[in-house]
Amino acid sequence: MSRPDEPATHRAFIAIGANLGDREATIGAALDALSRTPGTKVLRKSSLMENEAVGGPEGSPPFLNGAIAIATSLEPRDLLARLLEIERSLGRERHQKWSPRTIDLDLLLYDDLVLRTDELTIPHPLMHERDFVLVPLAEIAPDVLHPLLRVPIGTLAKRVQRDPDIHCSSCGYNLRGLPVNGHCPECGKSIKETLEELAELDPAAHEQLRRAGLIALAALAGCAVDGVLFVMDAVALAERTLQDSGKPISARSVCAAVRARARDYFNDDAEAIELLNEWGVRSSEDVGRIVFAAVRAGRLTASPGDRESDFAGLFTLDTLFS
Ligand SMILES: [Zn+2]
Repeated sequence: MSRPDEPATHRAFIAIGANLGDREATIGAALDALSRTPGTKVLRKSSLMENEAVGGPEGSPPFLNGAIAIATSLEPRDLLARLLEIERSLGRERHQKWSPRTIDLDLLLYDDLVLRTDELTIPHPLMHERDFVLVPLAEIAPDVLHPLLRVPIGTLAKRVQRDPDIHCSSCGYNLRGLPVNGHCPECGKSIKETLEELAELDPAAHEQLRRAGLIALAALAGCAVDGVLFVMDAVALAERTLQDSGKPISARSVCAAVRARARDYFNDDAEAIELLNEWGVRSSEDVGRIVFAAVRAGRLTASPGDRESDFAGLFTLDTLFS
């Protein structure tokens, strides 16, 4: 554990939200308290943006959201404890999820750390799906990489802003950006069920939702939607190719199908390299990440190989087309 008098060597990003009382004053008080924390310095502040409350009770007042960068000598658990302490001192009681709150301080990123414990998950698990987190964060840290997705925050922010709103059919929670095979975080209803109900009521909206699921998958895999579609196509080709032999598809057969599909799909190798590069499909590792994100999201039933590491070192764009 670090002592507060150690130099502030860790970099962390924190989301701030307030939707009760004098919101700007409360946010100012939280920032003051944070900069008075030993070993901690506020480095950058985003501007504040106003957002409709997501998933809260009907008639919840709008939120004011922002993000800050800090340097701190506190370890993650101590920093979390300090954030909770500031929330409490400013009148927040964490009793009802999504209820109106004076102040909300969420630890988003801490150096390049990936951490999952009962009390703390870093990076913050929903941050890459929430525009009210990503947009302010992108203002102060556009080039910082999300440590799990390996995608710059600026890119994630642009992506999430293109997703449509999707409201849970039983509780109204905004499901935007969540994986289609998941559940509503508020009431637990399956997202697929909401989609099916919508398909009957409003086919156009349903098509939008289908695409939103794809966007969520692309965010998970850290590539473009076009990259996901292309790789899914290659998997289907590998399945067709191996159908008669009765052999299961493998990382190797999927990569071979990526090359065959690319030769078929693009005008020439130079165009293939350029576009695949742009879509984030730059190596066999990228293909593996997309395939396994799709398997985990329930969009692929066939699983080529058992492990994502089977895809390691099979090709880069240069070797694929040489
Ligand atoms: Zn719900």
